[in-house]
Amino acid sequence: MAGEPQSDCLFCKIVAREVPATIVRESETTLAFRDINPQAPTHVLVIPKAHYQDAAALAAGAPDVAVDVLREAGQVAADEKAEAGYRIVFNTGAGAGQTVWHAHAHVLGGRGLNWPPG
Ligand code: C5P
Repeated sequence: MAGEPQSDCLFCKIVAREVPATIVRESETTLAFRDINPQAPTHVLVIPKAHYQDAAALAAGAPDVAVDVLREAGQVAADEKAEAGYRIVFNTGAGAGQTVWHAHAHVLGGRGLNWPPG
């Protein structure tokens, strides 16, 4: 059921502290941790603690938490001093490169970011 922890979900296991991660921020509804395969000097994932498979499902099922994720993403960028600019990315669907089916915002910064992305 939407929002319930999934026993086969890696990010639910990170929320439950069953899988280690380098956590940089936590709120009542969100968790932020460093990506294990960073694509920029700052590369942090911000996730809802509740399980939704992607950003659209999160926005539909828990819009207040979707806002929390965006607010925390901005706070990560401020904490990391990514003042030159940063990017918030939600890969959504396999064709866009989504590999973990628990909604997550990539916060990327600390280097120049080209447009359009690959
Ligand atoms: O958008 P996508 O689903 O591909 O992003 C998943 C991200 O989760 C990847 O960037 C991957 O490096 C990261 N990851 C992680 N810790 C894990 C497994 C995956 O940070 N234990």
